[in-house]
Amino acid sequence: MAASKTRTGPPRVAILGAGPAGIAAAYALSKGKAEVEVLERAAVAGGNSTSFQIDGIWCDYGSHRFHPVADPHVLADVKALLGPDLLLQPRHGRIRLGGRWIHFPLKLQDALLKLPPAFAASLIGDMVLGKFRRKSTGPKSFSSVLYDGLGPTISENFYFPYVRKLWGLDPDKLAVTLAERRVSGSSVGKILGKMLRMIPGLRGETTGRFFYPRQGFGQISSAMVAAAKGQGAAFGFGANIVRIERDGNRVTAVVTKEGEVETRHTPDQVYSTIPLTTLVRLMDPPPPPEVIAAANAIRFRGMILVYLILGTDRFTEYDAHYFPELSIPISRMSEPKNYNSATGPKGKTILCAELPCDPGETWWDMSDEDLGRHYCDWLGQLGLPVNVPVIRTETRRIAHAYPVYDLDYQRHFETVDAWLSTLDGLLSFGRQGLFAHDNTHHAFAMAYAAAEVLTPEGGIDRAKWAEHRHEFESHRVED
Ligand SMILES: Cc1cc2nc3c(=O)[nH]c(=O)nc-3n(C[C@H](O)[C@H](O)[C@H](O)COP(=O)(O)OP(=O)(O)OC[C@H]3O[C@@H](n4cnc5c(N)ncnc54)[C@H](O)[C@@H]3O)c2cc1C
Repeated sequence: MAASKTRTGPPRVAILGAGPAGIAAAYALSKGKAEVEVLERAAVAGGNSTSFQIDGIWCDYGSHRFHPVADPHVLADVKALLGPDLLLQPRHGRIRLGGRWIHFPLKLQDALLKLPPAFAASLIGDMVLGKFRRKSTGPKSFSSVLYDGLGPTISENFYFPYVRKLWGLDPDKLAVTLAERRVSGSSVGKILGKMLRMIPGLRGETTGRFFYPRQGFGQISSAMVAAAKGQGAAFGFGANIVRIERDGNRVTAVVTKEGEVETRHTPDQVYSTIPLTTLVRLMDPPPPPEVIAAANAIRFRGMILVYLILGTDRFTEYDAHYFPELSIPISRMSEPKNYNSATGPKGKTILCAELPCDPGETWWDMSDEDLGRHYCDWLGQLGLPVNVPVIRTETRRIAHAYPVYDLDYQRHFETVDAWLSTLDGLLSFGRQGLFAHDNTHHAFAMAYAAAEVLTPEGGIDRAKWAEHRHEFESHRVED
């Protein structure tokens, strides 16, 4: 897609980033709508949703499930692309509440039997007295909304410590948006309703289940890349984007550099799924100072994935363990073998811990060996001692794991978003492009919408895109 300016065929679109959003856009556009070139910095596709093997075991960047609540169109495509490789698995996790292990997702009978009586009584009290509880006054935050909706017991024992760990901020320093996007049970009654729907006889075919591919979550991305390539989309991995040129409010070129050689890509549209902060910094000429200042104020939370490779067939029967308590810094642990019911390799399993942390924090620069030692200590404290041989520890680090919805984020995001929206020839979307705390199926839905709004002349139907943006606000994160 380098060079020529005169177009004779379909519109030409350069997609920045080959995570789920970029891949799905390439897949949808290459069905005859556009000539597509994807520019991805990494060596492989899939972004945060990719998979890789360690000692023959498929691993993800932390626990990843494809949720059955996906838009039917998106789900139908994923099913068609993966065929029999897409498994429908029962969810079988555990959460630590009040010092006890409770099944997660919550099941009524299990919760009644296992929750400490004082904890259960306090929960019921919150539900009964909820109507009479004095609502918080003053500006709303994540903590005030949760406290008002759920009451003190579940807020203080689960959500507050969990978000403190995940975002590194106190719950009253986090915006309401986080509660809207992340907390699907916004009252004790709704949580009970969810638990009732888990009861056999009352539950639907996919309740309490998730889709998962045989070769790791990333198989969804790789199948979609293969299909997009089959339709003519070109993928360039290891791409080093050095600037995005604009002439006034028209984006004119994406420039990549390999060694000393620069290449100018001059599509009709640039579809960007890279972090919007990076997008702003790549602009040449740069945006106005207030846009740069706003982009500098936007923060993403990083994460270290710590993979403990153990000399045993299986460590637990559970897919994931959730740890809200603040005494240990990991938020969740998954055992990849339990996601795809893998039978081999024998004599080995892996425990993947999610350790939220930013570059510059102590954990970020720690050696794999030391992280592995801490990990074993934490498991010991949780009553899960590692009494089997530890073969070794591996880690992966992701800098853009979660958008940080602090109290000022909205203002900064809107400044950047408003300026980017004035540019012709550019559309920013996806988790990183819209600073959206979302799931993979949401990234796919955004990409399909982005493909839909491309006009045959290579423009964007902005009115339709505005409608889609409004729909994206209803996306709710599934855990
Ligand atoms: C710990 C964790 C668990 C999750 N669990 C689930 C789950 O269970 N189910 C679920 O559906 N979702 C889950 N998600 C969310 C899921 O990972 C994201 O929704 C999805 O990956 C978003 O896709 P994306 O393409 O928008 O962004 P990304 O996956 O972040 O992809 C962005 C791409 O842009 C590339 N890029 C960045 N900068 C540049 C640059 N300068 N030049 C070129 N390319 C660049 C990156 O390399 C990457 O490939 C989880 C996320 C995390 C962090």
